[in-house]
Amino acid sequence: MKFDILTIFPKVIEPYFTESLFARAQKKGILTVQAHDLRAFTKSRYKKVDDRPFGGGPGMVIQIEPIWRAIGSILKISKFPKTRIILFSTRGKKLDAKTAKRLSKYDRLILICGRYEGVDERVAAHIADEEISIGEYVLSGGELPALVLAEAVSRFIPGFLGTHESLEEIKGFYPVYTRPASLRLGGKTRPLNVPPALLSGNHRRIEVWRRTHGALHKK
Ligand code: SAH
Repeated sequence: MKFDILTIFPKVIEPYFTESLFARAQKKGILTVQAHDLRAFTKSRYKKVDDRPFGGGPGMVIQIEPIWRAIGSILKISKFPKTRIILFSTRGKKLDAKTAKRLSKYDRLILICGRYEGVDERVAAHIADEEISIGEYVLSGGELPALVLAEAVSRFIPGFLGTHESLEEIKGFYPVYTRPASLRLGGKTRPLNVPPALLSGNHRRIEVWRRTHGALHKK
C-alpha cells in the first residue's frame, strides 16, 4: 500500500510516520507514505495555491490547478493499479471501520488535504473518487484527517499489527488492566482493585467476565 498525501504542510505529516507501527511497517515493506508539498506544483511566483472565492465571502480557497498537476505527477508512477483519490471534506462520508477496511484493499490512496475555506468544488466533482469526513466538527485542515485515515486503514493491512497489538482482531473489545493488582492513589481510602475474575487464573471465568464487560468475538 502506498499513501500519497497532498498538503501545504508536509512537515506536519512526516514525523508521525517515522515512529512506532508506521516505522516498522515501512521497514518491513508493508507500506510506504509520501507527503507531497502542494506548493511545489504551483506556477505562481510566490508559490500561491489559494485564491479568493467567487461570489465573495470570507477566507481563501485552495485552487484546482496545483492539485491537478500534483496528482498527474503522482499517477505517473503507475505500478499501483488500484488507486483511489480521496478528498477530505466536512461534507464527506463519515469515516468508519467498514470504510477503512474497504480502502485497505487498494494499492494506493492519494489523500488531498484541504485548508482555509476548503477546496475548489471542481476537485470533488472531477478529480476525487470520494469525499471523507472524520467527524462532525471543523478542523483547520485535512492533515489530521489524513493521519487518522492512514492509521485506521493500515490496521486492516495484513502484517501491520504485530501479535501484541491485534487484540481487537483476535479477541474483541473488553476492558484491560495491568499491574499493580491493587493500589491506593494519594489520599484515597479505598484501594483500586483489578476485578478478581481476571486474577483467578481460571480461563473460563476470565472469558465470562470479558464477555459480560465487552464485546468478545466468538471463537
Ligand atoms: N468552511 C469549511 C471548512 C473548511 S476546513 C467547511 O465548513 O466545510 C479546511 C479543510 O480542512 C477542509 O477542506 C478539509 O479538507 C479539512 N477538514 C476540516 N474538518 C474536517 C473533518 N471533520 N473531516 C475531514 N476533513 C476536514
